[in-house]
Amino acid sequence: MAAPITEVAARVVAGRGVSPGVVRAPLVRLGPPVVTSPDDPVGVDPAAEARRVREALTAVAADLERRARHTEGVSADVLTTTAAMALDPALADATERHLAAGAPTGHAVTLAVEEFCGRLEAVGGYLAERVADLRDIGARTVAQLAGLAMPGIPAPGYPVVMAARDLSPADTASLPGGDVVGLLTEEGGPTSHTAILARALGIPAVVGCPASAQIPEGTLVLLDGTTGTVQLDPPAGAAAVPATSAPEAAAGPGHTADGTPVALLSNIGTVADAELAAMTPTEGVGLFRTEFLFPKRADRPTEAEQAATYAAVLRAFGERRVVVRTLDAGSDKPLPFLPLGPEENPALGVRGLRTARAHPEVLDDQLRALAAAAEAAGRELDVMAPMVSTAEEAARFADRARGFGLTRVGVMIEVPAAALRARELLDVVDFVSIGTNDLGQYVMAADRQSGALGDLLDPWQPALLDLVAAVGEAGRAAGKPVGVCGEAAADPLLAAVLVGLGATSLSTAARARPAVHAELARFTRLDCLRLAERVRSARGAGAAHAAARALRDERA
Ligand code: PEP
Ligand code: MG
Repeated sequence: MAAPITEVAARVVAGRGVSPGVVRAPLVRLGPPVVTSPDDPVGVDPAAEARRVREALTAVAADLERRARHTEGVSADVLTTTAAMALDPALADATERHLAAGAPTGHAVTLAVEEFCGRLEAVGGYLAERVADLRDIGARTVAQLAGLAMPGIPAPGYPVVMAARDLSPADTASLPGGDVVGLLTEEGGPTSHTAILARALGIPAVVGCPASAQIPEGTLVLLDGTTGTVQLDPPAGAAAVPATSAPEAAAGPGHTADGTPVALLSNIGTVADAELAAMTPTEGVGLFRTEFLFPKRADRPTEAEQAATYAAVLRAFGERRVVVRTLDAGSDKPLPFLPLGPEENPALGVRGLRTARAHPEVLDDQLRALAAAAEAAGRELDVMAPMVSTAEEAARFADRARGFGLTRVGVMIEVPAAALRARELLDVVDFVSIGTNDLGQYVMAADRQSGALGDLLDPWQPALLDLVAAVGEAGRAAGKPVGVCGEAAADPLLAAVLVGLGATSLSTAARARPAVHAELARFTRLDCLRLAERVRSARGAGAAHAAARALRDERA
């Protein structure tokens, strides 16, 4: 359960630790989105305002170039290209025109930027992709003019703990390799995307901490991603330990103490993740979140582009298993190129496989691209669909995927209905993979993004584990594999419980693997079954966790 929130005045605030490690750094905030309006005050001298805009654009470009010098590879190229766009005289000229026509200064920048975005979108392809960068330049320029913090991920050139209300997948895309060494959010729970990404990147993180909103920017903090506490102005002696304090990567396949194999796979979202994970002893990929490849894309990625990306991932893993999940768009992971319209309750709306009802062509493109990638890489892959509720949906997906020549087809079990009827689903697919993040959200009726409901989203909730057991039982009966790829699999002790409940493979962020590997090797298969029985008899998440710890201590 989340620790109680204490007052900022007490110099310690607490939330929920979701990514281990301790860091000490000044706190900065994720810059708020910049909004301009035609009703903002108009500057008295349009010529002087035009000069201010040119100076602001130059400052924005200089800042981007400075960041490019501290970055490598593709990120550096993107920053350099974006800086060049800020210096394009046509952008300053267009702003000057809007100023001369009487627009307020910031809004003149927005109008000029939107004019250029419209042209890029009309051309389409690679140029349309630059729209997000151009809007970013506009937002930065407006912030610079107003003397506000730069919007987006802070990059001051030194390590910082970033505080935010919550992060979107698009915000987090620019975190890797930047200055952010710790994350602190007011909202979010253990399975929110902030938590998942922080663990994948090995960045210590505390989520569900409303009191963090009151911490003044610039305060030195000591953030502990294990205990979930954040100390303000820590004394000089308070040490920070490296985030990667997990045991050395355990080589060899995952197994229990008595040698039952349990494949330990990796969760990835990008080609870079794949390349990093492939360097570890992971047995492959249990969840490739393909929607993370295109978080900001306005136009649909082409089949050829997708095929090249998937082939790169397949090649990185050689012969090792790769389970690709088709786009899980919607709800907390909107994709600009897959418009789903406004929804009152998006987590219960059109998301995951359901998007294929309105846009079957997007799923077909992806399946065709996957088949092409498998052929190009000269190997097979596993494909699975997210957010499947019924055996009919599973059968339709399997038919479709097999129609494109994909042979190993599975579905995720993220909806209680699918868990309860797992036998029927397993009749029509080759494997299932349990997404405990969403399964927990739906069985407890608790929004996974909500920090306030973190206790209900605890993966030790016996109701969630009952559903996992139902799926495990169905898998055993059908003789088909049951994976777990939600965050529950990354908790080493819970991983042993999941095996006792019937999981045949576990998929986690690559960094979590060594600890899971080590813990699993401490328990025999019978121990795992006993653990499963104990947690299912417990009345509540806390009691379930305590029961498992007690059994582990008996074994020690
Ligand atoms: C899950 O729901 O557990 C899962 C693995 O999918 P995601 O976190 O991407 O929704
Ligand atoms: Mg999910």
